[in-house]
Amino acid sequence: MRIRRVLAPNPGVYTGPGTNTWIVESQSSAVIIDPGPIDDRHTTAIIGELGDTTSVAVMVTHTHPDHAPLANPLARDLGVPALGHAPGPGFDPDQRLDENSVITVGDVGMSVVHTPGHSDDHLCFLAGTVLFTGDHIMGGGSVMIEDLVAYLASLQKVRQLELSSLHPGHGDIMEKPYEVIDWYVEHRRQREEEVVAAMAAGADTLGQIVEHVYSSVDPSLHPLASRSVRAHLAKLESEGRIRVTDVADPRVRACET
Ligand SMILES: [Zn+2]
Repeated sequence: MRIRRVLAPNPGVYTGPGTNTWIVESQSSAVIIDPGPIDDRHTTAIIGELGDTTSVAVMVTHTHPDHAPLANPLARDLGVPALGHAPGPGFDPDQRLDENSVITVGDVGMSVVHTPGHSDDHLCFLAGTVLFTGDHIMGGGSVMIEDLVAYLASLQKVRQLELSSLHPGHGDIMEKPYEVIDWYVEHRRQREEEVVAAMAAGADTLGQIVEHVYSSVDPSLHPLASRSVRAHLAKLESEGRIRVTDVADPRVRACET
């Protein structure tokens, strides 16, 4: 098995150096994971990197705009199916993948691990002991979370796998997978503690909690941070620890224990 990275030309606050498009090749066959945004320069780079290999499929970890929009057009150009968990903005899978689906590339059977949390439709792909993590786990920082309860369960799920490295959707390859996963779990636990502490200090709206917890972070990132805090509040509410009294403009109240 040979793995190559083609970095998409979309660096930014949310994408780091850009989206990692991975090419996994075995016995002259290849799959493309997360082709990224529509950009002719990137299409040319991917096709150049594929060289003489026979493409089998284009796969997406999830349907965010920095991962999936090039999948359908590239798959059409290559004459192969586009694969993903579900349709989403700018993406319509020719075949849908689910937990335990297997994609065969040469002599490699790549299995699908459903990892909701960053997004509902998120998948990781396991080739041997190499896990392609998309935005479930990123190189160099925490990820944005939609559903924290699901996200933590998905971290535990991938922790059970036999892993040698993580190949993320953004940033560098991680060679110590279990340390990284444990850091992610601990990071969310600390954030939860900080959210609870902010409420104990009197913060009772989403905005106040974000200002409290992320006081050292550039305010331009607060809208992003507020999505994480929302996910924390939903988890605390599902555990009966707080009540969210206004969903549109969240106000929160601690429950008596
Ligand atoms: Zn994403």
